[in-house]
Amino acid sequence: MPNVREILLATSNPGKAREMAEILADSRAPVRWRSLSDLAGRRWPEPQETADTFIGNATIKALHYARLSGLWTIADDSGLEVDALGGEPGVCSARYAGEPKDDRANNALLVRRLAGVPAERRTARFRCCVVLADADGVLASAEGTVEGRIIDEPRGSGGFGYDPHFWIPAAGMTAAEMSPAQKHAISHRGQALRRLHDLLLALLAAAQG
Ligand code: IMP
Repeated sequence: MPNVREILLATSNPGKAREMAEILADSRAPVRWRSLSDLAGRRWPEPQETADTFIGNATIKALHYARLSGLWTIADDSGLEVDALGGEPGVCSARYAGEPKDDRANNALLVRRLAGVPAERRTARFRCCVVLADADGVLASAEGTVEGRIIDEPRGSGGFGYDPHFWIPAAGMTAAEMSPAQKHAISHRGQALRRLHDLLLALLAAAQG
């Protein structure tokens, strides 16, 4: 019987925490997944996300929580890149409209900034970088993207963040109109976490000797 390893899924964003747990739910890995809310009694400070790339910020978060928890830790950094806005909101996606974080205000600002931009120039993608770290450094990382287009009128009530305005031509609906399983099958986060999961299986097998 392989040893079961505890791994922390370190995000304080409830939408992302739910999706990470759903995507990893049928994991074959000998792992007990823990969330920050399982460990919330410890009231850890959030790290400053000072990098200007998704991979940089995912690394900051994974190392921060791995050092606090002593556990192998997975963190993600993700966001929306809109071509007509030069890649904005990018790493500022969560706080595009300023503090406090507000999905409705972010979506309203996005639609305002794209006023007058025709449909064919509203191309965009969600990007997700995930990092697995222990207290000493990064063990593995992976990335995923999904292509779409920004629409003015929100559609659907699933998902979170920019999903109601993110039209996915390949699916013929917005990310917010998809079931969780449909979204995870194609999403940036689903792709990135499945890739990282494969790397994790190899690391665990090597650790078992
Ligand atoms: P982070 O917590 O700094 O990684 O911020 C990620 C932000 O990007 C979220 O707060 C959302 O605004 C946006 N975002 C990332 N992934 C998604 C998604 O799957 N759907 C909608 N918005 C997302």
